[in-house]
Amino acid sequence: MNTRRTFLKAAGAAAISSPISSAADRYSTPPGWFDKPMRWAQLVFVEDDPGRFDLQFWLDYFRRTHSDAACLAGGGYMAFYPTRIPLHYRSRFLGSGDPFGDLVNGCRKLGMHVIARTDPHAAHQDLYDAHPDWIAVDANGNKRRHWANPELWVTCALGPMNFEFMTEVTKEIVRMYGVDGVFSNRWAGHGQCFCEHCRRNFEQFSGYDLPRSNDPHDPARRAYIVWHEQRLFEVWRLWDSEIRKINPNARFIANSGGGALSELDMKTVGELSDILFADRQVDQTTGAILLTAQFPNPGNVLRPGEYAKVRAIIASQHDALLIPQRAVTELQGNYLVAVVNAENKVEIANVKVGDRVGALWLINEGLTAGQRVIADGSMKVRSGMQVNPKPRTAAIPGEK
Ligand SMILES: [Zn+2]
Repeated sequence: MNTRRTFLKAAGAAAISSPISSAADRYSTPPGWFDKPMRWAQLVFVEDDPGRFDLQFWLDYFRRTHSDAACLAGGGYMAFYPTRIPLHYRSRFLGSGDPFGDLVNGCRKLGMHVIARTDPHAAHQDLYDAHPDWIAVDANGNKRRHWANPELWVTCALGPMNFEFMTEVTKEIVRMYGVDGVFSNRWAGHGQCFCEHCRRNFEQFSGYDLPRSNDPHDPARRAYIVWHEQRLFEVWRLWDSEIRKINPNARFIANSGGGALSELDMKTVGELSDILFADRQVDQTTGAILLTAQFPNPGNVLRPGEYAKVRAIIASQHDALLIPQRAVTELQGNYLVAVVNAENKVEIANVKVGDRVGALWLINEGLTAGQRVIADGSMKVRSGMQVNPKPRTAAIPGEK
């Protein structure tokens, strides 16, 4: 296929200052797009995925799962597109390919929204060598090796790595691909950093040296909590505004660490975000799943750290038909309901079921409102049998 990208590759050096991908040219992000997707997919590469991963498999998967939007690994400590930013480490398996761009184009053809995922929490050796001051420093003054991958270094989230380098990465991705947003993972740092930037900036802000205790009565610790949060919100605002300068309807989406568990002030987070992602994984010990929601809290009735029971409407269906679950019999993947007709004879209806609601079942097809279904003794009846039905009244809601 002669895409603009392959053309540019063939055209060689003369084309190098032009945008690589044509993805951004044909597509424009609609306003308010973030309220539309109901099902999100995320695809995160590892270094040797480029050239090996099956593009068509994933696009088919997105189609089969009716995904409306995708979050795709773009750049940060590793780039999965042909970046031109110096020291933006490209996957060694990237070659002349553009797996990120191929996925963006494929998703767009499926009518999906696409955001790029960035991850600035680590750096390779060449970046360390060029900018040793971008690396996080521990309390003993040592630069921090990555806890899981000893080839990598941990970066400082409050210094030039995020404010300068990642701003350029973010802008490049939005410019090249016209993505609907940029989601950043692990953008907020890991533990307190003692690098020269943190030391100097904190001293300028508070007049204190960086705190070395967690004592909440230590004025330096208290000032640090305020400064640390301010710095993170500053980089958040910076990335969001740079994204919007290029693509006004696109957004920065911070990984907010799972809502209420975040260290950040959720009120400000709510003001800054049109959309938030929760770390939506089932906790295998409790079976719980994390959800994030934004709602007004007049008078600050709800306070951090409180437990609350929350009921939320996650969907609404008008004129829904609900019947007791007991009335439904499953037989080899078919859902059957015994119905009593006007002559009090039994007919068996083949129905399509939807969600379960309490003890009831939503029926999407096969029944109409006002029909009488058999809830008790349905196992004893057959089609055509004459019955003497006893109507039940208090069945809905909360049928017991
Ligand atoms: Zn630092």
